[in-house]
Amino acid sequence: MNGWTKTVSRFHNDLKVAMEPYQGRQLRTHEIAKITFNTPNLTHDSQFIYPSDHCINHTNKGSCFCVLHGEGEPIFEKIKRGLYLVRKTG
Ligand SMILES: [Zn+2]
Repeated sequence: MNGWTKTVSRFHNDLKVAMEPYQGRQLRTHEIAKITFNTPNLTHDSQFIYPSDHCINHTNKGSCFCVLHGEGEPIFEKIKRGLYLVRKTG
């Protein structure tokens, strides 16, 4: 397992909870960054949290478990560069 995957996957659940109030909405990367920064569990790590790592239609080598291994549901769908839909997850 890739080290970055391990790192970003640690934040998956807290990120999912933080984004729940925004389900169905489209947010820009900087808006998501602000939300994670204002989430107590994520504040100190917010610089490591990128929506592109938890994105159903975007995969990179260091993506989260939710993308690479189907563990948990991807939180975002990429609309275009810098704009993400918060998916309705269970
Ligand atoms: Zn994830």
